[in-house]
Amino acid sequence: MPIETAEHGILASDNDTRAGNYFVSNYPPYSFWTRDQVNEAYAALERAPAPGTPLGVYLHIPFCRKRCTFCYFKVYTDKDSGEIQGYLDAAIHELQRYSQKPFIGGRKPKFVYFGGGTPSYISSRQLTRLAAAMKKSLPWDEAEEVTFEAEPGTLTEGKLRVIKEVGITRLSLGLENFDDHILQVNGRAHGSKEIDRAYELVQSIGFPQVNIDLIAGMLDETETNWRECVRKTIRMSPDSVTIYQMEIPHNTVIFKEMKALGQSVAPVAGWSQKRAWVDYAFRELEQAGYSISSAYTAVKDPSKSRFLYRDLLWTGADLVGLGVASFSHVGGSHFQNEHEFQPYVDKLQAGQLPIYRALTPTPEERMIRELILQMKRGHVDGEYFQGKFGVDIRRRFGDAFDKLRHRGFLAVDGNDVALNREGLLQVDTLLYDFFLPEHRNSRYT
Ligand code: SF4
Repeated sequence: MPIETAEHGILASDNDTRAGNYFVSNYPPYSFWTRDQVNEAYAALERAPAPGTPLGVYLHIPFCRKRCTFCYFKVYTDKDSGEIQGYLDAAIHELQRYSQKPFIGGRKPKFVYFGGGTPSYISSRQLTRLAAAMKKSLPWDEAEEVTFEAEPGTLTEGKLRVIKEVGITRLSLGLENFDDHILQVNGRAHGSKEIDRAYELVQSIGFPQVNIDLIAGMLDETETNWRECVRKTIRMSPDSVTIYQMEIPHNTVIFKEMKALGQSVAPVAGWSQKRAWVDYAFRELEQAGYSISSAYTAVKDPSKSRFLYRDLLWTGADLVGLGVASFSHVGGSHFQNEHEFQPYVDKLQAGQLPIYRALTPTPEERMIRELILQMKRGHVDGEYFQGKFGVDIRRRFGDAFDKLRHRGFLAVDGNDVALNREGLLQVDTLLYDFFLPEHRNSRYT
């Protein structure tokens, strides 16, 4: 699952799963990004990059076989192959335009990420052509990580071979669960047989890194089934496992059904239950030799599974976000593309960049952004913030850290500020105390 969509939070004390976003993916909140700041984004494209800033490329492929009932991403299930090709051509054109801008400054991407939607929904021919055109604009020969999200039911042996040939180094499989009933009631397009078949193929073809995504607390999840999911995941032995806690944003099918029935509480497990399930999974994964590298991720071999996309974004890398509704961060300016299919394609066909809204954070906001994102790793290094921003975070955020310490979630050891497991499992609800006062109300809207 890509990481760039949520903007609001829930109350930490509220155990019921209510409608709204839980996951904090960026700062300042998206509700502060506006159309009248778009010119600042265009200006950032014309400046040379700050020395030493890594560059990444993200491409949103917004097509899926079916819409999951919990999905809040920009996805389409009704586009034919001509429309898909038109969209991919628009994204290629978008990258070509960016590649000629001064902010590139001769850089090549350190990481590339194909997110969705379902990137593996596109055909082998489309992928081959897409990758070749992207490399022509910005070669991947310095990319240390190229991630591709895949849905098991879309994978054939031929397509997996093409995925490998174009240079994907990290294949991320959106399994979410292993039980056919749970997959079906949550609207997933794949079933357990497709998982088994796809994983066998993935293993026989071999990828440098394979990640498995799970969701704790899907509709109809049970303790017994969750334990079985964890057992099966460990048996598959992927390089990393990413586990999200189920949230029900307002634009989901589940929320629409809740609204029709006049329900304010989502028909899924409460937050403490979901945390307990992730805690169980993390403990089992640790027993099996994995290390916990963030609130959502366990990795088998930390020296091999670095997840550059996350680590470089959370430390201020430039990111060129291609595709409908994608997010970019370039030269200190944040911006998002047109969030509807046709306006996105039309703008590129008319020779324009499809930037829709933007925000240029102040230096303090940039520092807070990095702090809250790095808190998701479970610890922050005071020396890093002193060196990069000239800020002593223990003094600047003394009250917020004290509050977390009193709640039993945090310890400060010299320069290192660390969340314990209980704090880490609810980190997204704890970050609002680090926001500037004018941004804190975004949790209630
Ligand atoms: S696979 Fe499901 S959750 Fe993922 S983007 Fe498609 S519809 Fe959304």
